[in-house]
Amino acid sequence: MRSSLFIVLVLGLAGCFDPPVAADYKETRYIFGTLVEFVIHGTDEKTAKQAIADVDRDFQRMHKDWHAWKPGGELVAINAALAQGKPHHVSSFVMPLLKQGRDFEQKSGGLFNPAIGGVIEAWGFHSDELPVGMLPNLADIKARAAQHPSMNDLQLTDDMISSRNRSVQFDFGGFAKGVALDMAVAKLKSLGIRHAIVNAGGDLNTLGTAGERLWKVGIRDPRDWGVIASVDLNGGENLYTSGNYERFREQDGIRYAHIIDPRTGMPVDHTVSASVIHENGALADAAATALIVAGPDAWAEVAKAMGIHYAMLIDKQGTVYISPEMLARITFETDKKLTLVQSRPLSDVAMTLSQTRH
Ligand code: AMP
Ligand code: MG
Repeated sequence: MRSSLFIVLVLGLAGCFDPPVAADYKETRYIFGTLVEFVIHGTDEKTAKQAIADVDRDFQRMHKDWHAWKPGGELVAINAALAQGKPHHVSSFVMPLLKQGRDFEQKSGGLFNPAIGGVIEAWGFHSDELPVGMLPNLADIKARAAQHPSMNDLQLTDDMISSRNRSVQFDFGGFAKGVALDMAVAKLKSLGIRHAIVNAGGDLNTLGTAGERLWKVGIRDPRDWGVIASVDLNGGENLYTSGNYERFREQDGIRYAHIIDPRTGMPVDHTVSASVIHENGALADAAATALIVAGPDAWAEVAKAMGIHYAMLIDKQGTVYISPEMLARITFETDKKLTLVQSRPLSDVAMTLSQTRH
C-alpha cells in the first residue's frame, strides 16, 4: 500500500513486454499512495472509464478503513479498543480481512501475522515517513513479540470483535493490496469487463487475455530496480512481489527492513524479495511476505503449506531460490549471472504447465 521509487519503473512493466493493441484502454490513478495502472482490453472506452471510476471509489474507502494508522478509519478505532481490552463493532467491510488474515496466519505457521501491528509500530514502520535517528529499544520490541499477538486470539461474532490478548494490533499492510486488487477485478468483471490487468507497483491481478496473447509482465529485480524475469499469466492469475529492500531504517550502517519475523520481533535480513503467482491475490500477497520471513531454509515448506506452487525467492547474496513450477513459467530477462537453487516440486500431483503463446 505504500508508494516508493520503483513504482514508476514497474508501471511500465506490463507495457514494456506487452505493447498495447489499439483496443486497449489505459488509465493510471493515484490510489493508496501508489500509482495503479489499469489496462482494459476489448471494451469500449466509456464502459472502461466508468468501471475504473467505480473501482477508484471502492479503493478510497479501503484506504480509509483498512489503514492501521490514519486517524478516522475503522481499523484505527478497532486497534484502540483492543489495546484497552474492549470489544468493538466490525463492519462487513473489515470483517473479511480479519478472517482472511487469520487464515493466512494459520497456513503460514505464524510467519505471516497481521496481528503484530504493535511491533511494527515500535519499529516506526507504522507511518508513511520512516523515522531517522536512534533505533527503538530492542528489549521493548522483544517484549512485545513475546506477548505473541496472534489472529488466533480473536473472538469474532457477526459484527463484533474482542481479543484475549491486548497486544493484538492489526496491520494489514502485508495483504491489503491483494484483497483490494481481488475486489477491483471482481468489480470490473461484474461490470462486464472480460480482459484487464490492474497493476499496483508491480503487484497485479489479471483477467482474461491481452487480446491474441496472454498478459506478459515483469518480475522486479531487487538488486537494481530492473526486471529480473518475465512471465505470461493466464487470465485470473496474479503476481505479487514482496521487497524487503524498499522500506527500511538504518543505524550504524545496518539496515533494518520493514518485514518482521513475528517470532522475534526483529526485521528479516536474509532475504530481499519473494514473488508468488496465485489466482487469489490476497493469498499471493500474504505468501510473498511470509516467504521473506521463511527465507532460504523454509520457504518451500511454507509455500507448500499455503497452497502456492509458483514461487521465487532472492536472498541477500543474490542467490535465486525457485520452485520447478515457477522455473518452467518464467523467462529470465537479465544478463547477470544467476545462482539458481531449485526446490522440490511444490505440487504433489504433476502439474499441467500453462501453454503460452508468443
Ligand atoms: P508486503 O510489501 O506485502 O510484503 O508487506 C509488507 C508490510 O507488511 C510491512 O510494511 C508491514 O506493514 C507488514 N508486515 C511486516 N512483517 C509482517 C509479517 N511477518 N506478517 C504480516 N505482515 C507483516
Ligand atoms: Mg505481501
